[in-house]
Amino acid sequence: MHNLIVGCGISGAAMARLLADAGEQVVIIDSKDHIAGNIYDYYTDNICVHKYGTHIFHTNNKAVWDFVSRFCKWYPYQHKVRGLIDGQIVPIPFNLNTLHAVFPESLANKIEQKLLDNFGLNVKVPILELRKKDDKDLQFLAQYIYDKIFLEYTLKQWGQTPDEIDPSVSGRVPVYVSRDDRYFQDKYQGIPIGGYTNMVKNMLNHKNITVKLKTPFNKNMKYDRLFWSGSIDEFFDYQYGELPYRSERFDFITFPYEKFQDVAVVNYPCNYDWTRIGEYKHFLNDKSDKTIVSYEYPEAFENGKNDRYYPIANDTNAQLYQKYLKLAQKLPNVHFFGRLGDYKYYDMDKAVNRALELFNDIL
Ligand code: UDP
Repeated sequence: MHNLIVGCGISGAAMARLLADAGEQVVIIDSKDHIAGNIYDYYTDNICVHKYGTHIFHTNNKAVWDFVSRFCKWYPYQHKVRGLIDGQIVPIPFNLNTLHAVFPESLANKIEQKLLDNFGLNVKVPILELRKKDDKDLQFLAQYIYDKIFLEYTLKQWGQTPDEIDPSVSGRVPVYVSRDDRYFQDKYQGIPIGGYTNMVKNMLNHKNITVKLKTPFNKNMKYDRLFWSGSIDEFFDYQYGELPYRSERFDFITFPYEKFQDVAVVNYPCNYDWTRIGEYKHFLNDKSDKTIVSYEYPEAFENGKNDRYYPIANDTNAQLYQKYLKLAQKLPNVHFFGRLGDYKYYDMDKAVNRALELFNDIL
């Protein structure tokens, strides 16, 4: 069987390795000049920089963790995010520490008790759920968090309010009734020592895998099976129209001193036009007398101008995706997967899990 995989990101690379380990021959192509798709990173000034923005691997799925752990050792990094809220740098997601940082003690104590009575300790509450609570203190809190953390960030990120976008999006960063300041609570979490590119390189390092970069797909290419991790609409020549995406622009700045901020990511919901600033040396505790940061500016995806980053979850787009999926289902030897192929807001672990499941379906 000759397998052709389009897209050399984490989805494509995982599928390539699974097929190769099963004794199949694989050619994997990418139009870019590097492997690893949007998790690509590189070293400069002794700092591992994520070219397409900060990426943190986290999962509760042991099968996924075991698979990726074959290709790297892990730095046990636990992600913490801060946000500039009312002039203070406070923990994000909003948690009990944030509560006590932004409100006077008596008010914070009163609201904390209400949160504990209503939800319990170490419980996550999506902001859109908190807003529905019929209690004036919790409503006050919900409105505060909505206005100060979600509204303007989401307008910058998606061009829409948190009420307009799919609830699963703001639900990724729920209010956390906890003193735990971490962004993720998953059992397995970390950054590959040596970087993501190195991890993907190890994944692809197999005698049955041929990697071809700067190689866009064309319809004359031969295959028995095609695995398409590009955008599904592109495969069908956009015949029903383009699936919309959000893109990002990163302004990288090198500062001639050791530290810019205390944590890897600081969000700026209500200030500036960027959403967040990432400082890369935190991820692997890289030592350098300089530091490299990126200011992140969301923008609309425009074909040919920038890259696809985020599928936009809403009913209209889901319907359009379904039309393409119907076409896809008529092609038994073509398989769509990955964030773009499935038009789903996968994290890295979900992308790997999807590759594992697809592989198990096929072989
Ligand atoms: N979000 C927000 N304010 C924040 C952090 C997140 O409004 O300070 C919302 C925003 O809509 C964002 C979504 O929550 O797109 C998901 O955030 P996450 O950090 O998971 O986004 P990613 O890292 O995937 O870009």
